[in-house]
Amino acid sequence: MSTAARYLPHGPFHAALSKRVDEYFARTGQSPRQRAGMRLKTATLFCWLLASYLYALLFAHTWWQVALACMSLGFAMAGIGFGVQHDGSHRAYADGAGWNALAAGALDAIGASSYVWAWKHNVFHHSNPNCVGLDADIDIQPFCRLAPGQPRRPWHRFQHLYVWLLYSLLAMKWLFDDFRDVANGTIGGQHFPRPRGWQLVQLVGGKVFFLGWSLGLPMLLHPVGNVMAAWVLASVTISLVMACTFQMAHVVERTTFTKAGTGEKSRWAEHQVATTADFGQGNALLTWYTGALNFQIEHHLFPKVCHLHLPALAPIVKATCEEFGVPYVAYPSAKSALVSHARWLKSLGAVPHAEALTPATG
Ligand SMILES: [Zn+2]
Repeated sequence: MSTAARYLPHGPFHAALSKRVDEYFARTGQSPRQRAGMRLKTATLFCWLLASYLYALLFAHTWWQVALACMSLGFAMAGIGFGVQHDGSHRAYADGAGWNALAAGALDAIGASSYVWAWKHNVFHHSNPNCVGLDADIDIQPFCRLAPGQPRRPWHRFQHLYVWLLYSLLAMKWLFDDFRDVANGTIGGQHFPRPRGWQLVQLVGGKVFFLGWSLGLPMLLHPVGNVMAAWVLASVTISLVMACTFQMAHVVERTTFTKAGTGEKSRWAEHQVATTADFGQGNALLTWYTGALNFQIEHHLFPKVCHLHLPALAPIVKATCEEFGVPYVAYPSAKSALVSHARWLKSLGAVPHAEALTPATG
C-alpha cells in the first residue's frame, strides 16, 4: 500500500533540510542511529520499572503505598515506550538490527504488540499525520471529534470534559485491539499483512507474559480485588501519559488537518511540519522522559534518527523552516500544549460545521 502518491515530489525545503542535517552528523562525527547514553537510559528506565513493581508486589503495606508504586510503574512503562521501544521500532535505537528489534519488543512485554504498532505508527501515522481517514491516531469516532474533517455529533459539545476518561482506557484497549486488528487484517480501515510465524508467537507470547507478570504473579500473593484495583491504576497512568503526550504533538490549535481524497496535494516534508508541534523544548527533564517526543517535528522529519539527537537538530530545522516560509509551531511548555489540546477539542465540539473552522497555521 503506497501512500507516496498523496504527496508532490520533494522540493527545495526537503533538500536543504536533509543537506544541513547530513552536514551536522558529518561535522560531529556521530551516527544518526546511535548515541552514547542510550544504554544507560534504557537501564535506568528498566530499573525504575522493576523497583516500582517489586515494591508494589513485596514491600508496600498500605493502600497508598501500593497506589504510589503503581502510578510510578505506569510512568516507568510509558517512559520505556517513549525512550526505548519507539526508537527501536523506527530502527533508531542502534546501528545493529538486533538491538532495534529487542528495543521494539519491549512493547510486547508491557502489553501491546510491537508488530501491530509498527504498522499503525511507523507506516499509517507517520505517512499521513493528521489526515482524516488515514491516521488512526486521530480517530476516536464517534465518541470524539479531533479534526475538522470528522462529523460533529451533539455529545461532542462535552468532549473536552470526557475525553480524559477515554484516554485513560487506552492501554486496556490496546490489550484487545491487537487481536481485533489481526483478525480483521486492518488498522483504522487500512489493510496490513497479518503476523505470521515468529511475529505471531511474539504477539501472543507478549500478551501472556504481560498478563503473567502484571496480574498472574500478583494474584498468587494478594487478594484478587486488590490486584485488579492496582492494575487498573497503573494502566490508567500509562494511558493518560501516553495519550496526552501524543495529542500535544499533533492535536492542538496551531497544527493543520487534512482529509484523505480532498484538498490540494502538498509536499511530504512541509506536511509533516504543518501537522506537528513541538512543546517544552527548554525542559530537559521533559525531553529525557518523553524520549524527545516534545521535539516531534524533528522526529517526524527524521524518524530514523535516535531521539537523543533531536534537540540538537531543532535549531537547524527551525532556521530552515523560517528561511523557506514553512510555519514551525513550538509551544513553550507541556502545559500550554495540553491547554491548547483541550481548547481545540472544545472548539471542535462547539462548531456545527467543519467548514466553519479553519485551523491557524502561523
Ligand atoms: Zn514515531
